[in-house]
Amino acid sequence: AGIQVAIDGPAGAGKSTVAREVARRLDYLYIDTGAMYRALTWLALQKDIDLNDESALSLLAEATDIRLLPALEGLKVLINGQDVTDAIRLPEVSRHVSQVAAVAGVRVPMVRLQQRLAEECGVVMDGRDICAYVLPRAEVKIFLTASIEERARRRYLEMSAKGVDITLEQLQADIAQRDKEDECRDVAPLVKAEDAQLLDTTGMDREAVVQQVLQMVHK
Ligand code: C5P
Repeated sequence: AGIQVAIDGPAGAGKSTVAREVARRLDYLYIDTGAMYRALTWLALQKDIDLNDESALSLLAEATDIRLLPALEGLKVLINGQDVTDAIRLPEVSRHVSQVAAVAGVRVPMVRLQQRLAEECGVVMDGRDICAYVLPRAEVKIFLTASIEERARRRYLEMSAKGVDITLEQLQADIAQRDKEDECRDVAPLVKAEDAQLLDTTGMDREAVVQQVLQMVHK
């Protein structure tokens, strides 16, 4: 048996790194919900769909097959059979994903898929609306955050390691913009759920954060 661990938080807080590692150590399934919105955004850009066209985006979301496959290095993301694991992390996708994720008709099939995946025993799921909407009955709920400077710095190290050409200043601006859009939208805005525990990871290394989360799970 296993429980549901829900982790929300702003962009670049290290949710996916921590969630993936916690899932690995507990032998739980890790579900990266941001990857789903990113994959759909990638497809919409690929198809040249007008991102202001909510009904076109909703139709696309309903008609698209998104899969998260456990792989050695985290999760493999497939959209309609195509591997977009790396493509969905590019700044171009990051800059448009909030607009796509703000569409109610996009969120319905995504949340449905997320809840279906969570029927598996023992899951760690990260996103923005997991505690309040997707897994309201999760046993462990965490709002993971860190200062904007630290989040930008971590993301910058990640991006430079991958050879992505972007400055720290640009990344920090992109992250701040994305947070603002996610906080201000009408549907499922980014906010700490009342019953979620706040975990501010500023100044903590990854292992310390993983240990904190594991402690919350074992309580
Ligand atoms: O987690 P990540 O930063 O990859 O998420 C990308 C974007 O997807 C977020 O900025 C947000 O707009 C959207 N998202 C969401 N709800 C979730 C997960 C992600 O709206 N549960």
